[in-house]
Amino acid sequence: MKIIDGKSVSAAVKEETKQEVKELKSKGISVGLAVILVGEDPASKIYVANKKKACEDLGIISEEYLLPETATTKELLELIDVLNNEKSINGILCQLPLPNNIDEKTVINAISPEKDVDAFHPSNVGRIMIGDYDFVPCTPAGIMEMLKYYNIEISGKTCVVIGRSNIVGKPMSMLLLHQNGTVTTCHSRTKDLAEVTKKADILVSAVGKANFVKADMVKDGAVVIDVGMNRENGKLCGDVCFEEVSEKASYITPVPGGVGPMTIAMLMKNTLTASKKQNNIK
Ligand code: NAP
Repeated sequence: MKIIDGKSVSAAVKEETKQEVKELKSKGISVGLAVILVGEDPASKIYVANKKKACEDLGIISEEYLLPETATTKELLELIDVLNNEKSINGILCQLPLPNNIDEKTVINAISPEKDVDAFHPSNVGRIMIGDYDFVPCTPAGIMEMLKYYNIEISGKTCVVIGRSNIVGKPMSMLLLHQNGTVTTCHSRTKDLAEVTKKADILVSAVGKANFVKADMVKDGAVVIDVGMNRENGKLCGDVCFEEVSEKASYITPVPGGVGPMTIAMLMKNTLTASKKQNNIK
C-alpha cells in the first residue's frame, strides 16, 4: 500500500505556480485574487487566512473584503460588480457558506465566469459537463492532480464516487468520466452501497461522515481517495477507516495530509490560469 501524499503533490503544484507567477511578473503581468468573507464563521476565517498566506507565498496579490454578518445581497453584488471590472483582480472567491439572509445563488451567478476561480458559476459548471473548461472546483481538480502525480491510470477503470454535491461529488464524477473512467455516482438513496463500492478500482468518498467507508466496502488493490473532513473527539478525520482500509488499498489518501492541502494549491493554479486567460497568454 502506498500513501498518496497531498503535502508533496500540493508543494509541487505551488512551486510550479510560483515560477509561472514570477515569469508573468517579469513581463509586467500580475496575478490577483480577491477573497470575500461575510460574517464571522470561525472555520471560514481560517480558510480565508490560509488562502491569503498561500497567495503571499506564491507572489499572488491577495485582497480581502470582510463584510459584516448584516451585509445584504445588494451590497455584496455591488462589491462583486466593482471586482468584476477591476483589471488587477483576476480571480474572485466568495467564501461559502454565506449567512442565511444572503441569496447564495444570485451571488454565485454575479461573479464573472472568467474570474470564477471556484468554478461554481453555471457557465463554468456547464463547461465542465462538455469537457471544455478553464476552471474546475479546487477539490476535484486537486484529486485529479494527485492521481496524475502517482501515474494512476483512470482509463477503463471502474470508478465510484460517494457523494453528489455540486462542489465535490458531481464534478469529480465528470472529471473521471472525461478521463475514460466508467463512473458510478452514489448518494444517500443508493441501495446496497457496499455492493457498488466493492467493484471500484478507484473509490472516492465525499460524504462527510467519520468511519463511513469500512474495509468490507473496498476491493483488494483499490485506490481510495478520502475527501471527508470530519471531527471526531476534536480530531480531524476523513470518511474512511484508514487502518483497516489501508490494508486492502493499493493507494490511499490520509486525513489530514491528503486531499485537504490540494484544494488551496488548485485555487492558486486557477487564479494563475485566470490571469493568463485575461492577458491572452497561452
Ligand atoms: P455534502 O454537500 O454534504 O454532500 C454529501 C454527500 O454525501 C451527499 O451527496 C449525500 O447524499 C451523500 N451521503 C450522505 N450520507 C450518505 C450515505 N449514508 N450513503 C451514501 N451517500 C451519502 O458535502 P460536500 O460539500 O460534498 O463535502 C463532503 C465532505 O468532504 C465533507 O466532509 C467536507 O467537509 C469535505 N470536503 C473536504 C474538502 C477538502 O478540501 N478536503 C473540500 C470540500 C469538502 P444526498 O445527495 O442524497 O444527500
